Amino acid sequence: MSEYDLISKIKDINEFVESFKKLLSIENNIEIRSSYQAGSTSIVCDCKNNKWILIYYPNDPIFLLIHELGHLYLTQITKCIYFAKQPPSNTDEEIFSYVNSIVDEIVNYKLSRYEEIYPYFVNYIEYVFYRTGNGINIKNLQFPLSFYIEYYLELNFNLNTSELKTLKPRIQRFLDDYEHQLVRDRILDKKDLPPIKNMLENFSDYLENETSTTFIYCIIKILKGLKKWSSGFINKNIKSIFHLK
Ligand SMILES: [Zn+2]
Repeated sequence: MSEYDLISKIKDINEFVESFKKLLSIENNIEIRSSYQAGSTSIVCDCKNNKWILIYYPNDPIFLLIHELGHLYLTQITKCIYFAKQPPSNTDEEIFSYVNSIVDEIVNYKLSRYEEIYPYFVNYIEYVFYRTGNGINIKNLQFPLSFYIEYYLELNFNLNTSELKTLKPRIQRFLDDYEHQLVRDRILDKKDLPPIKNMLENFSDYLENETSTTFIYCIIKILKGLKKWSSGFINKNIKSIFHLK
């Protein structure tokens, strides 16, 4: 598969974004800015001007553009803007990395249910495998376990049965290699992996929901299940990220 197949160019980005805004019933004002510098596609609130700025890197897979719209979609269905906004500056960076990974997978689950979006999602997964070849070098990641959780949820819950079947060997190899590195680099003890994977299997129980409290509860459960932080520290950060009383 060539890189050209994976990154299909969009002829008219405004038209493209409009069509997906319509599909997802997103009513926010969105200003699109394309950038060819290093970075990745993202969305930021320009709340003073009542709009969102979607920064698009044309070398990114198109799905990432839809993914950013997906954050707005999630804010719309839950009436909770904090699924799209950056956290307050006093938030623990590591915890936020995990929260963001889980929110991203709730977003991708919701998006991949749309048959108009699903092919872009599959294309993105193929792109991930293509780019990472025989696996990711986790030494380049700031919080490798948070990305493991992201990939685990992404590859186990968002594909439909037919892709799950065809991609199974690659998924298995990818996750096995990732787990091997987590243990090798002493990020996890080998015995900690099965309980973490067991806990992640419960992710699907929350996905059909549309309320912010259910999603936040799901995030807290995963964070606590990792046994990395005290409950108090988790609660404090969750309250700050989601502006809870
Ligand atoms: Zn995201």
